[in-house]
Amino acid sequence: MKQDIAFIQREELKAKPEPVSLGFGNYYTDYMFVMDYHIDSGWHDPRIVPYEPITLDPAAMVFHYGQAIFEGLKAYKTADGTIQLFRPEKNMNRLNESCARLCIPQIDEQLLLNAIKQLVSIEKDWIPEGEGMSLYIRPFILATEPHLGVRPSHQYKLLVILSPSGAYYGSQLSPVKIHVEEHYVRAVIGGVGHVKTSGNYAASLKAQEEAEEKGYAQILWLDAKENKYVEEVGSMNIFFKINGEVVTPKLNGSILPGVTRDSVIQLLKHWEVPVREARISIEDIFAAHERGELEEVFGSGTAAVISPVGELNWNGKSIVINEQQIGQLSQRIYDAITGIQLGKVEDPFDWTVKVDRVESVL
Ligand SMILES: *Cc1c(COP(=O)(O)O)cnc(C)c1O
Repeated sequence: MKQDIAFIQREELKAKPEPVSLGFGNYYTDYMFVMDYHIDSGWHDPRIVPYEPITLDPAAMVFHYGQAIFEGLKAYKTADGTIQLFRPEKNMNRLNESCARLCIPQIDEQLLLNAIKQLVSIEKDWIPEGEGMSLYIRPFILATEPHLGVRPSHQYKLLVILSPSGAYYGSQLSPVKIHVEEHYVRAVIGGVGHVKTSGNYAASLKAQEEAEEKGYAQILWLDAKENKYVEEVGSMNIFFKINGEVVTPKLNGSILPGVTRDSVIQLLKHWEVPVREARISIEDIFAAHERGELEEVFGSGTAAVISPVGELNWNGKSIVINEQQIGQLSQRIYDAITGIQLGKVEDPFDWTVKVDRVESVL
């Protein structure tokens, strides 16, 4: 089904923030994309409208039973002014996986990707330029039907908002201290940990808060059943370089399949660096450190791309990784992925998708 995307222009544009003051998630652009779903008419009325608050009935199901999902990807401006996205079809696909798990009706992936391209194109002047800078794209879906009986909603709203974001780290990647969580769990097999649902984040806040009180930046999550196997770090996937080989937890139904995770694995294979997806116990990680074989540890995700781990604390014991320095391979992966995203190096995988200028909408 081909649906045209309507456009409603706003009278006055907002003042754009200084690039140095951006941070993450602090500013929103002039426009947003909206589309509605009703059980009788399906997804309808795709439109780009001025960014503004939305009105929902207090009985909207999302407020009561948490039927909400989201995605996160970025648009980049290259040195020659080309605007590009990084593997956006993976995000469209994952959004539908999240929909399926939360009984939300499937969306037309092509339509949504087109909508995102149009929105980004209209907002091209909001894309900050330079190292680590991008326009963060946040698609999300909410259950909007006013109804208090527990069942899937019959009405939904899909929105896409854009937020210009600065470099996650300053000029250099800085290794962080991580607490291995033994009490709280993030996700269980059979649950919703493998999809991007808002509730996963709500459930993770307590452990994160307690870790911060103890001086750690993030949590390393273990499996919920045996409290033994490594799953994720904060809201990122995790990699270990042990004696020349890179290992990452195998997708098991409670781990989120990150686009960055997949990109790291493909890059390593391309470089012929040994890489393996496996079940990894935290005990084995500490044992590898004991033998002097734990060379690098890093998280991967859209926001930071690569986040080096400098210290791991588990069971009352702390180990320091690579003398709190960024590992050579971590840096190489970071440079390669951000290089592709910013159009500075060749893209052998065809990961980037160009956004055509749509002057015609205006
Ligand atoms: C989004 C997310 C990631 C990272 O996924 P990317 O596609 O690489 O951004 C990892 N873990 C969790 C729990 C997430 O929500």
